[in-house]
This record gives sequence, structure tokens and C-alpha cells, in this order.
Amino acid sequence: MSLDGKVAIITGGSRGIGKAIAHSFCQAGAHIMICSRSANSINQTAETLVSQGYSALGIQADVSSKSDVEVLVEKTLSEFGQVDILINNAGITRDTLLMRMKDDDWETVIQTNLTGAAYCTRAVIRSMIRQKEGCIINISSIVGIVGNAGQANYAAAKAGMIGLTKSVAKEVANRGIRVNAIAPGFITTDMTAEFSEENRQKILDLIPMRSFGSVEDVAEVSKFLASSSAQYITGQVIQVDGGMGM
Ligand code: NAD
Repeated sequence: MSLDGKVAIITGGSRGIGKAIAHSFCQAGAHIMICSRSANSINQTAETLVSQGYSALGIQADVSSKSDVEVLVEKTLSEFGQVDILINNAGITRDTLLMRMKDDDWETVIQTNLTGAAYCTRAVIRSMIRQKEGCIINISSIVGIVGNAGQANYAAAKAGMIGLTKSVAKEVANRGIRVNAIAPGFITTDMTAEFSEENRQKILDLIPMRSFGSVEDVAEVSKFLASSSAQYITGQVIQVDGGMGM
């Protein structure tokens, strides 16, 4: 699957799933712009990719800030001339039961995971419409489909991303732009590394394939959806979850 010459923005590209997507898109020939809140870590990831001979730039940008998102897209357009692919991957958790949840925990998760994806989508859509082509992939979660105790804010944001995906897909399908979502199950990253062994075992019992996924599992599906192999696929949610949500 080639992404030769395509320009992709990947939010939250400094580590975990976003970093794996960035690496896999580079290998497929794409130019990539990655962003995260920390200038240090995003520059480090971009420099590593460049040292491996790939075309990559990093920028410090918080997706929950409209002005940061505008700068992210302007910088991509000025450096690479176009945006063909947007991966809305940046995400955070602030887990606790809803009855104990602070307003700030609710608002920050919704603002980052859902509103941030909407800001980024809105910021790229005009240039995609002009070039009559584009692909947006929203990294949702299985939790947005089946729910999870202690994650009402996160699950609401991830379910919201699915509504966002399907609505925008309908708005822009006749402009040559495809919008899809991926719903990963439990993937081994920094986000899931903090689980206790007991919690880990409980989760494994819920996964028919009895293992966590890898970041490459999500990156491969992202590459497929971004490529011309998926040219007739839009408005879909692909679960990458070892069967957890079936
Ligand atoms: P991670 O915590 O390892 O990485 C998250 C990335 O997002 C980091 O680069 C971080 O800097 C960036 N980020 C966070 N807030 C940001 C903001 N406001 N602006 C810009 N960047 C920001 O997480 P991960 O496990 O790689 O998860 C990536 C995505 O996949 C998230 O959206 C997450 O919800 C989703 N997801 C992860 C899993 C899993 O099991 N790891 C499962 C389902 C969905």
C-alpha cells in the first residue's frame, strides 16, 4: 500500500499509536506533520524519522486550542503545499466514576478528544475540498461503542467521534473526501502501561483473542484506510480489538 507523495497530519504523533502511524506512513512514502503538546518530545520523534531518511516535521500544538490547530494546518500547507490525510489521534484519559468526576475532568477530555478532532477536521476540509480529494481517520475507541465504567467522559468523547465521523462523511462524500474511524480495543502503549496486573488480567478475560493489540495493528489499518485500496470506504468504524466488541 503506497502513500507516495501524500501529505499527512497526525495529531499526538510523539508516541504510542500516533508515532507508529507516523512511522508506517513514512515507510509508505508520505510526508508527515506530527504534533503534540510537548515541543521536546515531538521534535525528538520528528528528528528520529528525518535521521532515518524520511520526510517529517514536528510542531508543538494543542488540538484543544483553535489557534494552535490553525497554525498546525497553515504550517503544513506552507511546508508541504497540501494536506491529503488527517489522523485525529491525540487523546487523553481522566478516569473516575461519573459521580466523583470533576467538571474539569469532563471538560478537558471532551475538549481534547472530541472538540480537538472537530477543530482539526474543520481546519483541513476547505483545502481538501479544493483539491477534490482527502482522507480523515478518527482514532476512536471500543469504549465509545460498548462503554466502560470509570470512563464516562472518555467514552462519551469517543462515541462523539463516531457521530462526527459519520456526519462529516455524509457532508463531504461527494467532494472526494472519505472520513472513517478506527476503534482500537486495548493496545499496549503508555496509556495502558499503568494498569495493575489484576486489572490487566480482567481485561484479557474480555478479549476473545486473549492478548492486547500492538500499535502496529492500528497503524496498518490506518495505512489501508488512507490508501487508494480503501477508495470506496467512507463513514465506517473499523474495530481493531481482538474481537472484544463483537
Ligand atoms: P498516548 O498517551 O501514548 O499518546 C497520546 C498522544 O497524544 C501523545 O503524543 C500526546 O502528546 C498527544 N496529546 C495528548 N493531548 C494532546 C493535545 N491536547 N494536543 C496534541 N496532542 C495531544 O496514547 P495512545 O495509547 O497512543 O493513544 C492514541 C489514541 O488512541 C488516543 O486517542 C486514544 O484515546 C486512542 N486509543 C488508545 C487505546 C489504547 O489501548 N492505547 C485504545 C483505544 C483508543
